[in-house]
Amino acid sequence: MYYGFDVGGTKIEFGAFDQQLNRVATERVPTPTDDYPLLVETITSLVKKYDQQFECEGKVGLGLPGMEDADDGTVLTVNVPAAKGKPLRADLEKSLGRNVKIENDANCFALSEAWDDELKNEPSVMGLILGTGFGGGLIYDGKAFGGRNNVAGEIGHTRLPIDAWFHLGDNAPLLGCGCGKKGCLDSYLSGRGFELLYDHYYGEKKKAIEIIQANADGEAKAVEHVDRFMELLAICFANIFSANDPHVVALGGGLSNFELIYEEMPKRIPKYLLSVAKCPKIIKAKHGDSGGVRGAAFLNIK
Ligand SMILES: [Zn+2]
Repeated sequence: MYYGFDVGGTKIEFGAFDQQLNRVATERVPTPTDDYPLLVETITSLVKKYDQQFECEGKVGLGLPGMEDADDGTVLTVNVPAAKGKPLRADLEKSLGRNVKIENDANCFALSEAWDDELKNEPSVMGLILGTGFGGGLIYDGKAFGGRNNVAGEIGHTRLPIDAWFHLGDNAPLLGCGCGKKGCLDSYLSGRGFELLYDHYYGEKKKAIEIIQANADGEAKAVEHVDRFMELLAICFANIFSANDPHVVALGGGLSNFELIYEEMPKRIPKYLLSVAKCPKIIKAKHGDSGGVRGAAFLNIK
C-alpha cells in the first residue's frame, strides 16, 4: 500500500493507493498551524490507523510547498510554519519505524501525471503549473529529479529569456518576485502574471477568466493581450524544453484550462528550438487537485 500526504498551509490531505495505484482511502485534517509535535503526531496517527485498516505497513510519502535542505534535511517552507526548519523526515521515520520520502509539491504534481496509465511508459514527463505562481517538476523514468539542492524544476525562479524581453517591447514591465529577484518567470507566466500584464499594458485590473472570455468575444485589447501572452509562453517554454527536452509536458493550475494554449504552443514553439528539436506533446494534467496526494504516494514506487 502507498500512502501519500499533501501537506498544505491549511489542510493535510491523505490518500492510500493499492498496488494497482487505485485510490482506496481519503482523509483530510487541518494542518497544525505552529505546533510541530502535533504535526508529527497527526501524520503518525493517520499512518497507524490505515496500517491497521489495511493490515499492512504502508509506504509513506509527503509532498509540501517547499523542500528539504539537501545537507541537513530540515524543511525549507514558508507556507507550513509548523514544519519550517524542522527535520520532519527524520522525526517521522523515528515515530513510524520506516523510511519516509519528502518532495516538493510541484514535483509531486509531475510525478502523479507521470504515473498516469497513458504516460507511465514515457522516459520523461515534465509537469508545469500555471497557477497562482509558475513552477514545475521533471520526472525521469518514474522518479522525481531533485538535483544537488532539491531545487531542480524550480523554473519559476529562472528569469525571462532575452527573446521574451524583445518580444514584450520597450514598455516591458520588470516585475518583482516573492523570492527577492526581478524578472522571474513566476511573475509573468502564472495566472497572476496574465492579469498583471493586462493591467500593465491597458491600465485595467481584470480577472484572467474575464480576459479569456473577452478574447473569445473578439475584444481587441484582450485579443492583443492573449496573442502577446501566447508568444511569451512559447518563448519561455522553448527555453525550458531546450534545457530539459521532456518527452511529454502536462500543464496544471487554473490557467491550464485555457484550451487555446494547447492549439497555440505547438505552432509557436518550434521556431525558438534548435532546428533538430521537435516540440514535445503538451497535454492538460489529468489528475488536477488530487495530484499532490497521488504524487506523494508514488514517491515510493521506485
Ligand atoms: Zn523568483
